[in-house]
Amino acid sequence: MKRVVIVGMGFGGLEAARALAGKGLDVLVLDRQNYHLFQPLLYQVATATLEAPSIAYPIRSIIRNWPGVRFQMTEVKGVDLDARQVITEEESIPYDYLILAVGSVTNFFGMESVKQSSYDLKRLADATALRNHILTMYERAAQEDDPEKRKALMTFVVVGGGPTGVEFSGALAELARWVLVKDYPELHNERPRIILLEAMDRILAPFSEDLQRYALHRLKKIGVEVRLNTALAGAEPDKVYLKDGTVIPAYTLFWAAGVRAHPLAEALPVPKAKAGRIPVQQDLTIAGYPEVYVIGDLAYFEQDGAPLPMLAPVAMQMGRYAGQAIVKRERGERMRPFRYSDRGTMAVIGRNAAIAEVFGRRFSGFVAWLIWLALHLAMLVGFRNRLLTLINWGYDYLLFERQIRLITRQERERQIEASLEQARSA
Ligand SMILES: Cc1cc2nc3c(=O)[nH]c(=O)nc-3n(C[C@H](O)[C@H](O)[C@H](O)COP(=O)(O)OP(=O)(O)OC[C@H]3O[C@@H](n4cnc5c(N)ncnc54)[C@H](O)[C@@H]3O)c2cc1C
Repeated sequence: MKRVVIVGMGFGGLEAARALAGKGLDVLVLDRQNYHLFQPLLYQVATATLEAPSIAYPIRSIIRNWPGVRFQMTEVKGVDLDARQVITEEESIPYDYLILAVGSVTNFFGMESVKQSSYDLKRLADATALRNHILTMYERAAQEDDPEKRKALMTFVVVGGGPTGVEFSGALAELARWVLVKDYPELHNERPRIILLEAMDRILAPFSEDLQRYALHRLKKIGVEVRLNTALAGAEPDKVYLKDGTVIPAYTLFWAAGVRAHPLAEALPVPKAKAGRIPVQQDLTIAGYPEVYVIGDLAYFEQDGAPLPMLAPVAMQMGRYAGQAIVKRERGERMRPFRYSDRGTMAVIGRNAAIAEVFGRRFSGFVAWLIWLALHLAMLVGFRNRLLTLINWGYDYLLFERQIRLITRQERERQIEASLEQARSA
């Protein structure tokens, strides 16, 4: 029986495995974590709306009833394309077909000081670390006598006016404005500052101008300071440096200004495109390696003159295509070239406020917010997760609350706390 190895059980890998299940092939799924993660809602874990387990689902539960699909939790270190072997921490695994779907990592564009002093959102632990940090800053501020330090503790700088930066800023502003204000009577004279920096002259670049204007207006309305044409120069644990020379005293910097292909791509002896992505052919295979499919964020695929964006629906459609293509090849059938069908994009700014461009129509406000809620609920894996998420959203919406505001320390945060202490005593 031929073996298909899928590396990465994110949005792309999951759809590929689904398409291959029960088709008479030995399908081995490898992932460094034992769960599928719904990254678009990471910011809601970071801002105390959702519990971490609500947006993750065990891979073994997903594949339980998928015939022929097996899972192995392991970190893949490389691929020997000529020997057709995946190299993991423990062994080399031979394959007949390979689907590479390891996604992307945060791109700090070489700014080491920013990498050291900021938070990003890519993994579940990043989201809980950021939530812990935000709530810890409030606790510190409540005990701080020095007004300048208190101000810096309550200043939250977000870099990147794309959907992640906008959604996080909006959710943090609402957490501060409606929930933390009730929790911290000691801070009733201190207004938290949420500053969103964007290097371009507009936020949410892929959306139309009227929707961008709406989003900007809503962010300002809930108290987010949006600074356009403003680029970051560097950072320290308690300071943010801008290119124009401004220094913002702040203990929180959230970086949402870019992603690049997973480092696994670098080691492969194939050409790379922008952001380190691997160029793929019309059938999503690598030139010279017809048995190797690259999908999702890792793949560089141009359609109608532009590269496909790093988005979940792109990864899902690519995953489905790669799985079906392998099945057809095994049957001796031909597969049409891959074509992404764009059903739209959306972003949420806050309560009753979102923007959406779906099936060629534009929506903003309450209707867009309802579309966003329904779509995200439908996309979450697992009935329990959908139910928990719905309950949390409903509870928070009705009572202006956020239940998950717990400080549960992680190792990474301890390290950042230690460097904060060092900066303080220096
Ligand atoms: C904060 C955030 C918000 C986002 N919001 C949206 C949104 O609103 N809408 C949208 O469409 N897209 C959004 N995206 C983008 C979307 O999540 C990605 O485009 C999508 O996840 C890409 O799918 P993928 O299958 O390529 O990779 P991923 O879904 O990232 O999956 C990669 C998998 O590979 C595994 N892996 C990585 N390295 C290894 C290794 N060495 N060995 C074994 N396994 C490994 C990982 O554990 C993971 O399971 C967001 C992303 C982030 C980070």
